[in-house]
Amino acid sequence: MSRTPLIAGNWKMNLDHLQAVAFVQKLHWTLKDAGHDEGSVEVAVFPPFTDLRTVQTLLDADKIPFALGAQDLSTHDSGAYTGEVSGAFLSKLACRYVIIGHSERREYHHESDAIVAEKVQAALRHGLVPVICVGETLEQREQSGPTAVSVAQLQAALAGVAADADIVVAYEPVWAIGTGQVASPEQAQEVCTALRQVLSETLGADAAARTRVLYGGSVKSGNIASFMREPDVDGALVGGASLVADEFAAIIRYQK
Ligand code: PGA
Repeated sequence: MSRTPLIAGNWKMNLDHLQAVAFVQKLHWTLKDAGHDEGSVEVAVFPPFTDLRTVQTLLDADKIPFALGAQDLSTHDSGAYTGEVSGAFLSKLACRYVIIGHSERREYHHESDAIVAEKVQAALRHGLVPVICVGETLEQREQSGPTAVSVAQLQAALAGVAADADIVVAYEPVWAIGTGQVASPEQAQEVCTALRQVLSETLGADAAARTRVLYGGSVKSGNIASFMREPDVDGALVGGASLVADEFAAIIRYQK
């Protein structure tokens, strides 16, 4: 089964709603000027919550073919949860994706595997596609090998997920995020293969063949093609390099 590559830009806590407009327009026109083939790869942007409405309006008005995603959501649907954002609100803003279990949330906000699993359920309840992030620290890699942590995190996140659910998995080794210390394509492939095996065992062969598994961690225009050559890597979750329009456009155009 052929899987459409997904190049996703996780802005993290960068670009306010005014900067977001300029950035999305610049990215769009950079791709257009380069004659980018829109059908060859799906592009998604993940701005902060406060930008979502503005970016959604712009994508709609200018017919810009980027999917929209949020960086997190609440486990709850509504109620007295100060500061939280419901998946119901995100789907009303035409968000298609939501990142869940990013290592920064696991580390700074103490999100456990159980919370990640609840958030996956919350996303699916509201028709959002969860981008489930997994990955090991350097210490964990040395102690338990390259795949054990990611496999266990994905198994936990998939609790209660139906075989036909639309999900995305992202392997993001913690030691490669924002460090410039990129995993080798072979290292990415090894873990992405193990994750596809988990999909197969948990959700079945169809889901494993259909579901996109991304690599994330210091992806740049200079290394994206080497990851995309690996058979089990179906795209990238890009942090820092997704904030520079020319650089992100070059990543999207990795086939050229
Ligand atoms: P990076 O971040 O590309 O800046 O390493 C990736 C991520 O955290 O999703």
